[in-house]
Parts: sequence; structure tokens; C-alpha cells
Amino acid sequence: MFEVYETKVRITADNDAEAEKVREAMKEKKVFLINLMGSPGAGKTSTLIRTINALKDDYRIGVMEADMDSDVDARTIEALGVKVIQLHTGGSCHMDADMTARGLDRLNVDDLDVVFLENVGNLVCPAEFDVGAALKVMILSAPEGDDKPLKYPLMFTVSNVMLMNKIDTKDVFDFDPEKALARAKNLNPDIVPFCLSAKTGEGFDAWTAWLKCTIEAWRTEG
Ligand code: MG
Ligand code: ZN
Repeated sequence: MFEVYETKVRITADNDAEAEKVREAMKEKKVFLINLMGSPGAGKTSTLIRTINALKDDYRIGVMEADMDSDVDARTIEALGVKVIQLHTGGSCHMDADMTARGLDRLNVDDLDVVFLENVGNLVCPAEFDVGAALKVMILSAPEGDDKPLKYPLMFTVSNVMLMNKIDTKDVFDFDPEKALARAKNLNPDIVPFCLSAKTGEGFDAWTAWLKCTIEAWRTEG
């Protein structure tokens, strides 16, 4: 007889243990880590820019830009005057907890309050790999369609927040935010939704006010 070794199960179990270590270390240092996920072109970087601008007077912010290659997003973020590091995943289509731990180490978070990880643009495996963040935020943009929760259920199941971006284009793309939300809530009743547009700025006041409250609650709890 031979052994059937469930490689994938093993990898994600090891990753989950590593992610817990990251979460504990960040709690210890009082650094609120946010894992920002979404498809390529969903508007992760532009959403990040508006979010950082709303938070940077209150918190010392760092950003880890994860990409398979290139540094275009890191350059854009650096212009905001926040601490940034570009992480090259070397062809990997997601960040895992170990890569995140190394990135946090290189960034040096001792002088930071909030760190955003802009994950690799992908709705599939970033959802499978917990990186140890205090908050998982996913972006669904209107052009992608309101059926995405049906096609990529895990992303909506694991995320704490769903940002429906490019909401100014919803009529053009026949995107129904209520349908998208109903489908996401079917998978994850606790998901917190916001409609916004990184282009016009609409919706950002509500999202960033909620985020500040969430960060404050986390900082004062146990
Ligand atoms: Mg980007
Ligand atoms: Zn991947």
C-alpha cells in the first residue's frame, strides 16, 4: 500500500499556523495589517491611495506592494510620502504568510500603526492563503460583473469587507450592487459592503470612517 499525501491540505495548514504567528506578532507591536485583494484592474492601488490620504494624518502607514514583477504601484504609493516596499513574488500568484512575515521584517514596522498589503491581482488563491492580517478587504469593480461571488465564492467567504469599486460605471456595465451583495451575503452573512469610486471619491467617507472605527476598536481590545 502507498500513502496518499494531501499536499494542498498540508500546505494550507502550515500556512494557517504561520499566519497565526504573524497575527500575534502584529498584535504585540500594535500594527494593524490589512490584506487588500482583488482582480487585476479592480482598482486596488487607486483605492489604496484615497484610503491612505484619509488615514495618514491619524496613523503612521506602511505599504507592501506585492506583484509578480514590476514596481509601478510602489512608485505611485511612494509619492504619497508613506513607507513602502515592493515585494516580488517571483511568479507566484499570491502572497502566503511566510512571504508576508519576511516582507514585514524588511519593511520594519516598529514605527508604523497600519500596514496595507496590496496582494497580487487574483480572485482565486489569495483567498486560500491567510497572511495573518487583522482585516481582509476585497475589491469587486463594477465592470467585473455582479456574478463574481458565484464564480469565486471563497474570496467572498473569507473577506471581512467588500468594496464595490467603480460604482460610477454601474449602469454602463449593468452591475447591480444589491445583487452582488445578496450573492456575497449568501456565502458570508458578516461581510461589510461599501459602494465607492476611486475615480470620483464617492463613498470613501463612509468606508474610511468605518475603517478608522475598526482600527480603534482593535487597538483598544485586549
Ligand atoms: Mg495595483
Ligand atoms: Zn496563487
